[in-house]
Amino acid sequence: MGKAWLSEWLMLGALLTGALLGSVLVGHAGLFFLAAVVVFLSRHLYQLYRLERWLRIGRRRNPPESWGIWGEVFEHYYRLQRRYYKRKKRLARVIREFRESTAAMPDAALVLNNEMRILWFNDAAREVLRLSPARDLGQPIVNLIRASAFNQYLSSGNYDRMVDFVSPVHDSRTLSARLIPYGADQNLLMIRDVTRLHRLQAMRRDFVANASHELRSPLTILAGYLETLNDDQVLGPEWQEPVEEMLGQCRRMNSLVNDLLEISRMETEEADATMDDVVNVPELINRILQYARTEDGARHDIQFECAGQAGLAGVERELHSAFSNLVTNALRYTPEGGKVRVRWYPRSDGAWVFEVEDNGIGIENKHIPFITQRFYRVDSSHSRKLGGTGLGLAIVKHVLHRHNALLEVDSTLGQGSTFRCIFPRTRCRIGAQPAIRSVS
Ligand code: ADP
Repeated sequence: MGKAWLSEWLMLGALLTGALLGSVLVGHAGLFFLAAVVVFLSRHLYQLYRLERWLRIGRRRNPPESWGIWGEVFEHYYRLQRRYYKRKKRLARVIREFRESTAAMPDAALVLNNEMRILWFNDAAREVLRLSPARDLGQPIVNLIRASAFNQYLSSGNYDRMVDFVSPVHDSRTLSARLIPYGADQNLLMIRDVTRLHRLQAMRRDFVANASHELRSPLTILAGYLETLNDDQVLGPEWQEPVEEMLGQCRRMNSLVNDLLEISRMETEEADATMDDVVNVPELINRILQYARTEDGARHDIQFECAGQAGLAGVERELHSAFSNLVTNALRYTPEGGKVRVRWYPRSDGAWVFEVEDNGIGIENKHIPFITQRFYRVDSSHSRKLGGTGLGLAIVKHVLHRHNALLEVDSTLGQGSTFRCIFPRTRCRIGAQPAIRSVS
């Protein structure tokens, strides 16, 4: 028992002893005991009154002086209060610092509640979105930014990436936003003006697209004449090799132009491929393999293992381009007599995988992180000799990105490579029950 409680009991004991003595000496025991209880209760009522008054009017003042258990109660309460004020001050400082730092940021920052209503915004937000505190605080953000891309982003619930949209204030400006949920139900919305970057990217894209387009016609004419020269043998036999070489280079340039056009087209389109069309993947793979076998002329053993009739929501031309690039690479980088296995199968998490495995030259580990970069080749002269453009895997990466898919590469130098395209279940459309069958 603590000292405070002891003194309470001692006081009660003293009052009762006094009452007992009084009643022995004077009589009227009931009156004496009643008086003792009244004195005891009055003290507690008085202390309660002091506590209530202190809480009501003077919580910041020192607590009332008292002894016994009431002294302890006042002391505990006072300590709790001081801790609470300290924490409040610290939080207020953190919030002030956060607001000062976001206010000083060149990017617009808005704090939204769980209903996406504006609670606070910085000076840059006033500029970028023309917000005014009197008019816009408490407004749902979707009333102020009506761009469909932004609304889709907000309702998607997936805020890992940024979303670009046309500024609600200037049609000619592009904004990029990212929502960062924090705390229990607050969100920080960061918005940046990316107009300059967009213009630069558009300029680069347009330049590549225009240059590629312009190169197409002269190349077609050159290839046409060279083919005629090659077929008709109008020149002497000493010209056969140079003409064939020129024709080969023409074809390579043509592939390069086509790949460049394909990349710039994908860059111009929306970030995500459509979900409205369903591609019959087994049929698409069969078509790709049929063409590959004809081109390959039985130099490799090509097999297709299909685990079901699942299709994909997406763009057939793009998937065709990605899959055939992987198959072409497998054939290109696998010596004659090698094996190429193409597979289409589900994973336990519902994702479907397009896989191309070869037992070719393989890729050294240190190159793997870079092979999807444009024009990156492990051995450029080898790739060029085999007709590679250095853009195949860059196209694959773009297509997969637009289909929310991932590319996985396993490779061992001298033993072969496996390229896996993993499509999320949201893109997969199941047609028939999975059943492993092999098509050669
Ligand atoms: P390329 O047109 O040169 O094949 P890609 O972008 O398709 O360009 O591939 C980039 C590089 O990755 C290639 O030059 C090659 O070195 C390597 N590579 C791609 N696929 C394979 C494969 N199946 N086996 C070995 N190396 C490969």
